[in-house]
Amino acid sequence: MKRYAGTEDSLWAATVSKRYAGVPLAEDVTCDVAVIGAGFTGLRAALDLSEAGSTVTVVDAGGVGWGASGRNGGQVNPMLPVYQPNDLMKAVGATYFERLAEVSLGSADALFDLIRKYDIACDARQKGWLRVDHCPKARETARKGARLWAEYGADFQFIDGDEVRRLSGSPAYDSAMLAPKGGAVHPLSLVCGLAHAAEALGARIFERTAVKGLTRKAGRWTLDCGPHRIDAEQVILATNGYSGALRPDIARTIVSVTSIQMGLDPLPEEVIESILPEGHTIADTRRSIMYARREPQNRFVYGGASAMGFDGKPKGFEGMRKDAERVFPQLRGAQWRYRWGGQIALTHDRVPNFMEPEPGLIAGLGYNGRGVAMSHVMGKVLADRALGTPADALPFPVSKSDPMAFKRVQEFGAGIALAAMRMADNREMRAGR
Ligand SMILES: Cc1cc2nc3c(=O)[nH]c(=O)nc-3n(C[C@H](O)[C@H](O)[C@H](O)COP(=O)(O)OP(=O)(O)OC[C@H]3O[C@@H](n4cnc5c(N)ncnc54)[C@H](O)[C@@H]3O)c2cc1C
Repeated sequence: MKRYAGTEDSLWAATVSKRYAGVPLAEDVTCDVAVIGAGFTGLRAALDLSEAGSTVTVVDAGGVGWGASGRNGGQVNPMLPVYQPNDLMKAVGATYFERLAEVSLGSADALFDLIRKYDIACDARQKGWLRVDHCPKARETARKGARLWAEYGADFQFIDGDEVRRLSGSPAYDSAMLAPKGGAVHPLSLVCGLAHAAEALGARIFERTAVKGLTRKAGRWTLDCGPHRIDAEQVILATNGYSGALRPDIARTIVSVTSIQMGLDPLPEEVIESILPEGHTIADTRRSIMYARREPQNRFVYGGASAMGFDGKPKGFEGMRKDAERVFPQLRGAQWRYRWGGQIALTHDRVPNFMEPEPGLIAGLGYNGRGVAMSHVMGKVLADRALGTPADALPFPVSKSDPMAFKRVQEFGAGIALAAMRMADNREMRAGR
């Protein structure tokens, strides 16, 4: 598992509402369901299972929110990164298309409902998401996508001209798709809130507890956690971009790439007032993506794709600062105090993977940078499956552990791929707006 630039370097760590502070596993434990990974996926599954009366043990090698869930951009986006209905249809077929369209388009509402239900203090706000277009081709995709997704109940709007520049506060984009149901959460506060809620329902959560081995005997699973073991009837693997050697068959279905963010302390009102004035979150259509949000107390967060340096730390912050000043010239000269990064899990068809490689072992991963809302859809699906819902009645098809060729892309060239993506983005931007 890659370890670098921990959550402690983030704006989220500096502003978290109610930190979860747990202990490592210090005894042998028996339970109905063991969950590996204390991010959104694992904790959402644990929450639903505990509510249904199962005994649940959650372990994380780092801690609650140590992975992407405590580090991400907190943008709640009500769609998979598949921009035309036909592409999703091709990827999953007609039956799963309908189910996935429904749950993904409803994913933001569902998450905000959950936050209200458990009264989680995480700065949740549903003020809309702007997906701004970096080139004419992206503009046409957005225009068409807004129209086609409407047939499936989406309320996406295509907007352009002065309206885009006013809502974004950026002179860099001329058009956008506006998703009114999108919004934002404080990700570390949310993941800690989920842990507190699951624990209140009886789940046991252990931090700094890595699972080193997984074996099945006589219909039960044993999780080897160093000096101690967990004995469980079922196991949920929720390790996403941090999936390591524990189950290579599951890990190789994703490519793990780096995304970085920078955060600003409160800015004077006159500097920030024109940026995202109505509280939208924003992301652009570049392959190397920009995403940003304005925070309570006039803080600001800006993020994008990056790569790992040879020292095992994410790099690219200086390039990102220049990009931030190009997109939002109002920020020129601002001192970026917080810098952090994390791992995103990509799948070959941009659809998350639901897997069941052996009886009683289920996994959900691969959100392609859209996991804040979709990991909750998946966490619920994993809980439903563990509670006995037939696999073919779920919104996700069961994925096979196949795409080895895809995995090699990561191993041999994530940095090169990023450079190529940036060149293609720049070419398209130069080609005209
Ligand atoms: C920088 C960044 C920005 C992002 N921004 C957004 C955004 O704005 N909107 C959006 O929708 N999505 C975003 N994402 C994606 C989103 O954060 C993820 O899809 C989501 O958090 C995944 O949650 P998870 O619970 O599946 O995995 P994670 O939160 O990554 O949790 C996996 C956990 O598994 C643990 N683990 C791994 N192996 C073991 C083991 N052997 N034993 C015990 N524990 C183990 C790890 O320690 C880790 O804590 C972003 C991601 C990153 C990195």
